[in-house]
Amino acid sequence: MDKHPHLAGKLWLVGAGPGDPDLLTLRAARLLASADLVVHDGLVGDGVLALIPPHVERVSVAKQRSRHTMKQELINELLIRETLAGKQVVRLKGGDPFIFGRGGEELDAARKSGVTVEVVPGITAAAGCAAQAGLPLTHRDDASAVSFVAGQCKDLTDQDWSGLAGHGRTLVIYMGLATASAIADKLIADGVSPDLPVAVVERGTTTDARVLRTLLADLGDLVAREKVASPALIIVGKVAARADALDCLGAPGVVAQIRDFI
Ligand code: SAH
Repeated sequence: MDKHPHLAGKLWLVGAGPGDPDLLTLRAARLLASADLVVHDGLVGDGVLALIPPHVERVSVAKQRSRHTMKQELINELLIRETLAGKQVVRLKGGDPFIFGRGGEELDAARKSGVTVEVVPGITAAAGCAAQAGLPLTHRDDASAVSFVAGQCKDLTDQDWSGLAGHGRTLVIYMGLATASAIADKLIADGVSPDLPVAVVERGTTTDARVLRTLLADLGDLVAREKVASPALIIVGKVAARADALDCLGAPGVVAQIRDFI
């Protein structure tokens, strides 16, 4: 229920997609053009931000892995305050608002405060980056299940990923760059083959995207060797062998090994 219908403010939780502005939904593009205020993450690319008209007020609430420039509660407060003041507020988030985006918390907070809120889906990084890399997350021959997990250090050891990677499955790891070595060790300890193909997609869908490929045992070394930078996605599974990607295996002979999967 809208407690303040006379003010007609509205909050939109909008997915900005994985980077390339052409991958915005038409609804997102329309809302950016008509908003009073856009509150965006650091993950939202410059190309998307360039679509915001100059007269629209813009606030960045960029977060970094261990340092929050604005705490989630303060972001919620800002969104609610501005919407209750009668503005059309677009909360613009990388990818899809509900995939590792804390969009659920913002939705709950908005509903509790009685503001009118609507969610606009976006292409999540897994779907966008994989498609761009020519890597089908599911494939009749290779994978009939796909899982998305968050790989940030906090709670990594507590997370139970057993059964999520391996034969017939694809595992997509968001925020896994800093813990890539630990992730590979964890999967191998769970019984996943060290020879399973892995693709790493850096800045997927953008003009300077990089797609690298190796075997699971080499994942941590690859990330260090190639100085892979955030944002990057790790895709583990036989489908990674299908990727249109560079092989960065280092050791001669291993390239042939990855080809065996194809
Ligand atoms: N809501 C977002 C995910 C936010 S979590 C979504 O649906 O995509 C942030 C993580 O997403 C990054 O650490 C990275 O793992 C991944 N990511 C987002 N955009 C990416 C991109 N363009 N290329 C590679 N990974 C990306």
